[in-house]
Amino acid sequence: MPELPEVETVRRGLEPALVGRVLSRVSVRRRKLRIPVPDGFEAALNNRRVTALTRRAKFLLVHLDDGNCVIAHLGMSGRFLIYAGAPPEPGPHDHVILETDAGVSVYFNDPRRFGFLDLVPAHSLDRHRFLRRLGPEPLGNAFDAVLLGERLAGRSGPVKTVLLDQSVVAGIGNIYACEALFRAGISPRRKASNVTGMRLKRLAAAIRDVLSEAIEAGGSSLRDHRQPSGELGYFQHQFAVYGKEGEPCPNCDCTRKISRVAQAGRSTFYCARRQR
Ligand SMILES: [Zn+2]
Repeated sequence: MPELPEVETVRRGLEPALVGRVLSRVSVRRRKLRIPVPDGFEAALNNRRVTALTRRAKFLLVHLDDGNCVIAHLGMSGRFLIYAGAPPEPGPHDHVILETDAGVSVYFNDPRRFGFLDLVPAHSLDRHRFLRRLGPEPLGNAFDAVLLGERLAGRSGPVKTVLLDQSVVAGIGNIYACEALFRAGISPRRKASNVTGMRLKRLAAAIRDVLSEAIEAGGSSLRDHRQPSGELGYFQHQFAVYGKEGEPCPNCDCTRKISRVAQAGRSTFYCARRQR
């Protein structure tokens, strides 16, 4: 499942194809996605210029020149394919097609259909059912140890599980919660409200760092591996602990092996010695 850095990589890859362009033809081949593509979606987008492409947590926001905004979510398996020139015949999983006045076609492809495209006025974005409860952006200017401390205060669950709550911090998924806690040296089982002082500072910094580094890596994969298929290829880069059960602990002379436990139904990978 794409996490925040992968969605940001997709945003950066789509930006040159869409921003500043007029959508000359929009077709919806299948409306039944996680939420249905709204009636009138095609008509509302046709002949509109894209003014900006932004991101909120794991949602892509395509801003149009009439004040409307497309909210796109990749779900489990969603992706965008970009074709300059003649595009291939759409396949069964190519659900929405945007053509621009520059002759570029953008396909929204999603085999499992947990992704969606919705259309709302930009001024009501914050009230959208998927966006209204989102916590602060971990890469936003306001995110620091003080803000994170406010979000964790009074939360008695384990910090790993609390970090996955999108109303606490938006856009942190299972992979980067594990990686940030490892880097900060904090046990995933520690009560969230007991992450304070230096631990809190280390965690806020680690969250920003693991996400920023993954975005950097995604950016270079975008430059180096542009796919002839048109796919915005993002590569799962190397993780320190995620998926590494039984392997030697990295960046640490503890000689322990990485452990895995289930927390709230999700696998947590960590070093039991380093993380306290
Ligand atoms: Zn270790």
